[in-house]
Amino acid sequence: MITIDGSEGEGGGQVLRYSAALSLLTGEPFTIRNIRGGRAKPGLMRQHVTALEAACAIGGAECSGLMVGASELTFRPGTVTPGEYHFAVGTAGSTGLVLQTVLVPLMLADGPSKLVIEGGTHALAAPPYEFLKKALLPVLNRMGPNVSIMLDRHGFYPRGGGRIVVEIEPSTLRPIECVERGAFRTGKVEALVAGIPFDIADRELKAARKVLVDWPDEAFAPIELPADKGPGNALLIEAEFEHVTEVMCGFGKLGVPAERLAKTAAKRMAGYLASEAFAGPYLQDQLLLPFALAQGGAFTTVKLSQHTRTAVQLIRRFTGRGFQVSETGDGTHLVELVESG
Ligand code: ATP
Repeated sequence: MITIDGSEGEGGGQVLRYSAALSLLTGEPFTIRNIRGGRAKPGLMRQHVTALEAACAIGGAECSGLMVGASELTFRPGTVTPGEYHFAVGTAGSTGLVLQTVLVPLMLADGPSKLVIEGGTHALAAPPYEFLKKALLPVLNRMGPNVSIMLDRHGFYPRGGGRIVVEIEPSTLRPIECVERGAFRTGKVEALVAGIPFDIADRELKAARKVLVDWPDEAFAPIELPADKGPGNALLIEAEFEHVTEVMCGFGKLGVPAERLAKTAAKRMAGYLASEAFAGPYLQDQLLLPFALAQGGAFTTVKLSQHTRTAVQLIRRFTGRGFQVSETGDGTHLVELVESG
């Protein structure tokens, strides 16, 4: 039984999701205390409960203490069973983060799966649909499995109500090298608005253009979705390279000026473009688990996030496998799997 202090490292929901996924993959039970102890409002929120329920459903696991507000729980994994599953967060809690919990175990299962996940598809501080489809899944598919994702309905913060459908053809994971991102092909910025004034999209695009000055006018497009999909707003910035596509985003929130969220997202993309890294600041922590299970491989990335450092520690505790990180000189870091670190 592994004991985790949920306030350590990043101290948020990722510690819990990573632990559940690792537990299903290794068969090692765990107890976690101080869940989300690093957050202003600690304890389980609805989206974390759904993520753990999903882990229990696919993994025949038992989880005691699983309820909204809980700060401690014990998770005992069973056998991962592929199949058709439906998970609903019930709030704008992220569908992508529920997927993050069960994806790698199902990629290594002994049959195909189909998941329908309802909740937020464009939720704050979580991977949006476009990131999953264009940034994460193409890398995972290069490792062997065939995972596809479809957006059935948008679900914006704060209302939710979105739906993604994910189909997973499993396979063993082969180690891959994601060191060079190759030549820049194209950049695209889309401002989605649903049921809110259209000029918000224009303001966001104008602010993003001031940062991404080299991108042509045609790269910037406002997109108006039917009002009944809102209220909602997301700014999605994509950069396609020969070997990877990165997606940075910003989400509209009452009280946050459109210009500010657009500038933040665009600067994040500008920082990535200025580096030579393959993975940006969010792809990095989501690649660690599949790379650890592939027992090899390497990727380059920008400065390591606290999420990544925390995931490295958790992977070491559950699997004994470690990552070696070396700076390659220009702010780019090389992350390589080592047997034990
Ligand atoms: P908490 O409320 O405790 O922060 P959480 O479960 O919502 O909990 P985190 O623990 O912070 O969130 O984990 C967020 C996860 O979402 C991380 O894996 C991070 O890489 C990913 N993520 C956050 N923002 C983005 C983004 N813009 N694009 C892609 N992935 C993202």
